[in-house]
Amino acid sequence: MATAAPLFDTYNRTVLHFERGEGVWLFTQTGERYLDFAAGIAVNSLGHAHPHLVSALTEQAQKLWHLSNLYEIPGQARLGARMVEATFADKVFFTNSGGEALECAIKTARRHFFVNGQPERYRIITLEGAFHGRTLATIAAGGQAKYLEGFGPKVEGFDQIPFGDFDALEAALSEEAAALLIEPVQGEGGIRTIEHEMLRAMRKMCDDKGVLLVLDEVQSGVGRTGKLFAHEWAGITPDIMAVAKGIGGGFPVGACLATAEAADGMTAGTHGSTFGGNPLAMAVGNAVLDIVLADGFLEHVQDVGKVLSQGLASLKDRFPGQIADVRGTGLMLGIQCVGVNTDVVKAFRDEMLLSVPAGDNVVRLLPPLTLSVEEAREALGRMDSALDKLAKANHQN
Ligand SMILES: *Cc1c(COP(=O)(O)O)cnc(C)c1O
Repeated sequence: MATAAPLFDTYNRTVLHFERGEGVWLFTQTGERYLDFAAGIAVNSLGHAHPHLVSALTEQAQKLWHLSNLYEIPGQARLGARMVEATFADKVFFTNSGGEALECAIKTARRHFFVNGQPERYRIITLEGAFHGRTLATIAAGGQAKYLEGFGPKVEGFDQIPFGDFDALEAALSEEAAALLIEPVQGEGGIRTIEHEMLRAMRKMCDDKGVLLVLDEVQSGVGRTGKLFAHEWAGITPDIMAVAKGIGGGFPVGACLATAEAADGMTAGTHGSTFGGNPLAMAVGNAVLDIVLADGFLEHVQDVGKVLSQGLASLKDRFPGQIADVRGTGLMLGIQCVGVNTDVVKAFRDEMLLSVPAGDNVVRLLPPLTLSVEEAREALGRMDSALDKLAKANHQN
């Protein structure tokens, strides 16, 4: 563990010094080459140094970096219109991060009921295992004790129910509930997908009870599962949705999307952000959409995702003492481990493959969406070697 004295000690950093990246590859100062199946935790959606993103950013950098939201910001209306066109939404608010997109989503839901004469409806219902960010409100939404401890009273108005417990859900969606907030696929929680049937039932229950459905697609969105947004697989739409990570391809961009009705309380002066929707961010966001929305791109994610998940299924057969389960869709995949997940992440790293640990003893594989079939096979080969070494080491013990 490296302790960089000037920095807060909030991260246990791995001692690896990456200097540059290209596509799915990361290069260290000493020229070692790693396959990046972490992608900044689902952020570098188009890999590193994608030429289209580099030129969009550098061209904008020569024109205008920042402008207050008191003026029309270049690229903002265009990116907003394109996101509206591609989704259920009528309205978009741009942020710099996922946590801020969630804050905006929560405020939008509460404010909707406030302006419609139901101020008592402010409670937000979330699922156990959720992760919605590290702000004071989003740690309350996530409900994980380890993130709440020591930060004062938990922000009021968040109730958590067990994953997959329909009766608890029904009870929680009371007259005081403003919104049900869920990740269609839990990322930090361990690539846990809400069954499509269940998601449809949740949508219906929200409609029946007059509760807004808010989806957190910060990790699962922007093509990650092979659809533009993961909820499309279930054939439902939310009222409000938080987006970030992949939409910026590595530049900090987030967005809160909503129907016109859900956003009816967000009138002039109710919310704001200094940097949200900044010209540099908008240039990159638009460039990401150029590629993700191009014909055949999402099919590519589905195809290469299948190669990877089939390969993982064979690895599970070959190493039943290492892999308990393989899960996920598209390029949002998880390996549930028999042993300790962080040991597997380390074993993969020893084979120069980066992955990310998650809850439920899972190792997440979140490669750039531009991953080729050949690179997917290369990664499977490295996982095979790593698991083989782990299996042999276990055998010796
Ligand atoms: C990463 C993440 C967030 C928080 O995003 P930040 O940009 O770190 O604030 C929220 N929700 C989900 C599902 C995430 O994966």
